[in-house]
Amino acid sequence: MAGPIQIGIVGIGKIARDQHIPALRADPAFHLTAGASPHAGFEGLEVHHSLDEMLDAHPDLDAVALCTPPQERYALAHAALSRGKHVFLEKPPGSTLSEVEALRQQAKRMDRTLFASWHSRFAPAVEPARQWLAERTIKGVRIDWREDVRQWHPGQEWIWRPGGLGVFDPGINALSIATAILPRPFFLTDAELRFPANRAAPVAADLRFSDETGIEIIAGFDWLRTGPQTWDIRVETDQGRLRLSLGGSVMAIDEAVVSQTHEAEYPGLYRRFAQLIAQGRSDVDVSPMRHVADAFLRGRRVQTAPFED
Ligand code: NAP
Repeated sequence: MAGPIQIGIVGIGKIARDQHIPALRADPAFHLTAGASPHAGFEGLEVHHSLDEMLDAHPDLDAVALCTPPQERYALAHAALSRGKHVFLEKPPGSTLSEVEALRQQAKRMDRTLFASWHSRFAPAVEPARQWLAERTIKGVRIDWREDVRQWHPGQEWIWRPGGLGVFDPGINALSIATAILPRPFFLTDAELRFPANRAAPVAADLRFSDETGIEIIAGFDWLRTGPQTWDIRVETDQGRLRLSLGGSVMAIDEAVVSQTHEAEYPGLYRRFAQLIAQGRSDVDVSPMRHVADAFLRGRRVQTAPFED
């Protein structure tokens, strides 16, 4: 491909404004040509009302980045792949595992790149943590992802609808890190999901996992935490305790910080997307989403007080 990758962005909401557009504008491997969003606009960007309208206006687009809610993802990705575009999927890559598999197969048939991105895996302390753990024996893991939904998702109705995942919308980020840093696959053994009486998605979840060595991995996801917010993973090993905090930004060993930078995640995601396109490959790892699906399959459901924004 000669020159930068011509890319269009679909779904001009919070994450597109805060992360995708700045990352794309700073990356010489891409040229952000246009956007598509039913209602929103963005200063300095030509925004169309729909993906089809954008693709009709810009037949030269090479790629699209889909930043809509997950319930919209399959139809948009299918349409973009059908028109020969490479596709970047925000997390989660879809609203069912089967639709993501259908997209993976379609991308293969069309010889296009499909990138199911997991932004938290690009947090700066994640790779150092993976390397540190690879040389040690793991004894147990504790994940705490506790935040205030009213602060982070004000007025976002889609997160409470079927396919919106509720508290698993942030929780899947923790699972994307855990599946990247732990050396072996793990699987759900028990779960409790707490659903507000007036909502179709959980506001809190307690999960237990194990692996072939029998270790216990405990996760607590909570959307009603006010005060200090927590995005921590602690791993006990035979040679000390690793703590990843602030969603993978800070790594400490036995409470002494060993890695702390403020590197943003999205420039790394787009470097990866450009690399996959150059190599003619896709990257579609559904393991974080499979754990969420397992929790919905196997978890006990408990009804709690109605939630009002
Ligand atoms: P959001 O603020 O609600 O934005 C989503 C946008 O998608 C809306 O502005 C809407 O545009 C647009 N949209 C809906 N249907 C569309 C369609 N058919 N075609 C084109 N655009 C459509 O949501 P968000 O917080 O940015 O989250 C979007 C995705 O990013 C989610 O999967 C989320 O998990 C992920 N994510 C979010 C964050 C975060 O901090 N918020 C962080 C990382 C990842 P209009 O306004 O024009 O109707």
